[in-house]
Amino acid sequence: MKHPEVGIAAANSVANAPAAQPASDAPRVGEPLHELVEPGQARPSVPAPSPTSAPAAAVTPPAGKRPAVAASGAFDDSTPLAREISDLARRRQALAKEVLVLPTATRVFTVANQKGGVGKTTTTVNLAAALARSGARVLVIDLDPQGNASTALGVEHRSDTASVYDVIINESPIAEVMQKSPEFEALYCLPATIHLAGAEIELVSIVAREQRLRRALDTFLDESDELFHYVFIDCPPSLGLLTINAFVAAREVLIPIQCEYYALEGLSQLLNNITLIEKHLNPELSVSTILLTMYDSRTNLANQVADDVRKHFPKEVLQTLIPRSVRISEAPSYGQSVISYDPSSPGSLSYLEAAAEIARRGAQS
Ligand code: ATP
Ligand code: MG
Repeated sequence: MKHPEVGIAAANSVANAPAAQPASDAPRVGEPLHELVEPGQARPSVPAPSPTSAPAAAVTPPAGKRPAVAASGAFDDSTPLAREISDLARRRQALAKEVLVLPTATRVFTVANQKGGVGKTTTTVNLAAALARSGARVLVIDLDPQGNASTALGVEHRSDTASVYDVIINESPIAEVMQKSPEFEALYCLPATIHLAGAEIELVSIVAREQRLRRALDTFLDESDELFHYVFIDCPPSLGLLTINAFVAAREVLIPIQCEYYALEGLSQLLNNITLIEKHLNPELSVSTILLTMYDSRTNLANQVADDVRKHFPKEVLQTLIPRSVRISEAPSYGQSVISYDPSSPGSLSYLEAAAEIARRGAQS
């Protein structure tokens, strides 16, 4: 992929986004997933939404209809709230009709951005949960000593827990270290503990230090009885040896970009590093996906950043935007993804849509 120069000036320019990418054709490869459940239907695999969750299902208008003006006149589709509810209902219906396909070979994603707090972990966990909910077998590798992905997926990661550190430094097999997440049936996590903080330094003197994760993952995927459809590697906010290990282990890079003022700062450096890895260590690597996160449609700045990123990366940016949402930020404190914490919330819907888009793109390529 060509990496256009981007900088903060670009972030501030108001650019016209290119026309939306055409909707995809019917998926071509892979086995069909079960259809996503219709809004309002019970979903046995996930807990019911809490009473405070978005009540969209209760007020969802029939297909194709805008909410009628209530007798009292209090509910009117000319209000922003009614329009939002109507939009959510339309999106839910579209998602419910979609049949996702599973890839026939494992897709390994590294979720990276050396900028901190842009939504790497949130994106890793929620995309993994969204795909697992739809029937995919998914492994999340937590490669950040902060262990946030392990927390969000509800897996043990105390300092004495076997972890990704043991895989990279002590050559423990992934199959023996990974844990099943209580979130969904086929969702697994290779947890990170605080020991990983020392791994960057320990790796320096180890032979083939950039290949450690790749070798462990290849062995695991080869020996696994059942195909893992997706692997997501959650990176720390740096471009050190851990992140390099992730780039070498992956085929695809997913870059979350926060819709904020400094969003594009450092992106050129990230892309240059990926180009170097592609050239010297992993020719299969490419930036396949960019996801805009923490989008707030009320601010001009968020719209400008989104437009600008789409202008520079028309093929890579997903149409789906992840909104800034309290429910998304609350979910990890319950050891849950937003997909199980509040399945009917707009944040959950957005991650389900992003996962569907990723699955669709994979089926087309
Ligand atoms: P780090 O670089 O430290 O690993 P990160 O890139 O993984 O950070 P996250 O931990 O996913 O970023 O998100 C940073 C903070 O923003 C977290 O508190 C998270 O709950 C919150 N957050 C992420 N996405 C959203 C969202 N869409 N709406 C609201 N809050 C969000
Ligand atoms: Mg993180």
